Amino acid sequence: MSFESEVISIIEDLIKEIALHHAFKANVADRIRQLRDLIDAVTGYAIDCPKCNTVHLSKEEYFRQVSQPDDRWECPKCGAISDFNDEIYESKFGGL
Ligand SMILES: [Zn+2]
Repeated sequence: MSFESEVISIIEDLIKEIALHHAFKANVADRIRQLRDLIDAVTGYAIDCPKCNTVHLSKEEYFRQVSQPDDRWECPKCGAISDFNDEIYESKFGGL
């Protein structure tokens, strides 16, 4: 699913939940968390996993991994050793 369609589907779910007024507070908190993760996903941090392909890292996850003593990158989904995606990073930060 593309980033845009994922955001749209979360917003649609949110609207439906507001309309239904079903377990309102808990669901809204979940959606806000999901949206925050997605927003983090456009920070420009991503890895290329051999299994999951390109996976965006949240800002939190990026800084967690970058502060590890090893210089490996791990897939946040499956834990496989991955390569950092320089292309996405440079498109976001202009390749410092
Ligand atoms: Zn993976």
